[in-house]
Amino acid sequence: MESLTPGAGRRLTEDEKLRLGSEIQRRLGVRTSRDEPLARFTTMRVGGPADLFAVVRNLFELRGLCRFARARELPLFLLGRGSDLVISDRGIGGLVVQVRAEGTRLEGTRLTAEAGVPMARLATVAQEAGLAGVEFALAIPGTVGGAVWANAGAHGADVRGVLVEASVLSGDDGSERTFDAEGLGLAYRDSRLKHRAHGFPDVVTWATFALEPAEPALIAGRLDEIRRWRRAHQPLGLRSAGSVFRNPPEGPSAGELIDRAGLKGRRIGGASVSERHANFIVNDGLGTAADVRRLAELVRWTVAERFGIELQPEVVFAGDWSDWQEAES
Ligand SMILES: Cc1cc2nc3c(=O)[nH]c(=O)nc-3n(C[C@H](O)[C@H](O)[C@H](O)COP(=O)(O)OP(=O)(O)OC[C@H]3O[C@@H](n4cnc5c(N)ncnc54)[C@H](O)[C@@H]3O)c2cc1C
Repeated sequence: MESLTPGAGRRLTEDEKLRLGSEIQRRLGVRTSRDEPLARFTTMRVGGPADLFAVVRNLFELRGLCRFARARELPLFLLGRGSDLVISDRGIGGLVVQVRAEGTRLEGTRLTAEAGVPMARLATVAQEAGLAGVEFALAIPGTVGGAVWANAGAHGADVRGVLVEASVLSGDDGSERTFDAEGLGLAYRDSRLKHRAHGFPDVVTWATFALEPAEPALIAGRLDEIRRWRRAHQPLGLRSAGSVFRNPPEGPSAGELIDRAGLKGRRIGGASVSERHANFIVNDGLGTAADVRRLAELVRWTVAERFGIELQPEVVFAGDWSDWQEAES
């Protein structure tokens, strides 16, 4: 299955974990943990350990850690709310940084949010200010950074439609620059940031959105509609990573194809195709990342055989999948 595998960096030795962890604490005042299990930081609740793990609560810490990792050639993986991820059972090599920088600033009709702000909060901050345009963000259980990276969208709107600019720390040279939607290559669930499969990641630090004044009742009505739609159509409260596959450019949606192929309820280990939304795979709590990936492969293979359509993954299979071929056989 063609997919991006960010976080496939080299594994650190025990000595490196200790040495780098204490250097990060000493230089930046950020605590790290070793061999931190990552499943609980994702909505699918699968995934093995990070060699080194840190949570950053502001942009100073985020920038500092990114620069530190670059200077030490330490593989770096950015984690938002883990709502688009299937992290491998072997986990992620190097340093995993969860971004919890959650500042927001409103200037006129422009709302600026740090990368760790939950998208749902963006929607409510805008609502409280009587501003419309980001209601769709309520449907997205990820962060601003993850949403820019994926050009997340829902209910006919997406990040591209409201983004003024986002600030990005370059994976190439560590410089920080702002880009508009075009400069970020935002397209249907896509951006140029997504295509850095190798080397150091580009890191979104903050983003500014253009909103417009609207009647509070109108905004509240749209938000209620989104809540109702999600309750009716998505397996909320279950462990999932949202839509597994992108919709094909034309014709039936991925969910319709999977449903028509009779795959609803299909199970491998602890992972099953949701009965409520065929494009969701849910984990019963005992599932592994390998179960989820095997089931996704089965779905893709079945849909290709039945309809001649090659579904492409929307979720990101991240981390160390080096044993994946063996696991399959
Ligand atoms: C129930 C459910 C419903 C969903 N519905 C939708 C929907 O309607 N529309 C939609 O588009 N998506 C949906 N999703 C998917 C997901 O919420 C979005 O893709 C979201 O944008 C992911 O953000 P995150 O913070 O969780 O990113 P993560 O899953 O933590 O990370 C995803 C990728 O983004 C990268 N990343 C994260 N933060 C940064 C940063 N600051 N800078 C650079 N890279 C970064 C990570 O390295 C990783 O490669 C849904 C998911 C679930 C579980």
